[in-house]
Amino acid sequence: MKSLFVFRGDDILLVQEGSPRLPAPEEIVPLEGQVVRGRFPDREGLFWAEVPAETEPPRGTAFVSRRSLWGIVDERLFFTVGKAFHLMDWHRTNRFCGRCGESLTDHPEEKALLCPSCGQVIYPVIAPAVIVAVEREGKLLLGRSPGFPPGRYSVLAGFVEAGESLEETLVREINEEVGIEVDHITYFGSQPWPFPRSLMLGFRALWKSGEIAIDGREIVDARWFAPDEMPDFPPSFSISRKLIDDFLRRHDNGRGLP
Ligand SMILES: [Zn+2]
Repeated sequence: MKSLFVFRGDDILLVQEGSPRLPAPEEIVPLEGQVVRGRFPDREGLFWAEVPAETEPPRGTAFVSRRSLWGIVDERLFFTVGKAFHLMDWHRTNRFCGRCGESLTDHPEEKALLCPSCGQVIYPVIAPAVIVAVEREGKLLLGRSPGFPPGRYSVLAGFVEAGESLEETLVREINEEVGIEVDHITYFGSQPWPFPRSLMLGFRALWKSGEIAIDGREIVDARWFAPDEMPDFPPSFSISRKLIDDFLRRHDNGRGLP
């Protein structure tokens, strides 16, 4: 049975019986005729669709925010929802050719959109960002962004700008946000982050010089935390949490992490 990814704005439709789950085709029959764009299926095998903002969910279903899926669905489904959203959002924001204004069509061979008038090919936009766990003498640098829940801290992150290497982004972002210098940069791992189209590239780094001086805009507080004085931090299976767990594991704080 195929599951359907039906989006209203940034929210996804879930069936609310027992454990929330994606709807089957027969469960969204009331929405037929309201789909403004969709792929049934697209070349990825994902069945996604967008419905207008005023759409009422069929009986027994609800539109929920994708961020609220933390802890409701497993990691694989969370990121599959993200992939379906990324593709839907790409179609929604690329309806016309930016060069000549013609309506875009699906490319017959590639995972791309094609302008039938001037031949421009448009691929899905992916916005790379670096996220970094900076250590200083056994302590981890964590900061608060203005939108975080109360008490929440996380490792710092920032978007790659045109012409930058990932290492240059990392050094610039850390310096801009908290005023310190880092070195000994090593790659940790990556994770798609579909809010709405990022790819997070995780690194570890060591403090080199300077004292914390927050920018007060992107970061409203930042401190060095020892393993036994950690604040509230992000939910599992985010790369930010994996970086924090990696720090705690290497500093053996007795939490029994795998
Ligand atoms: Zn064109």
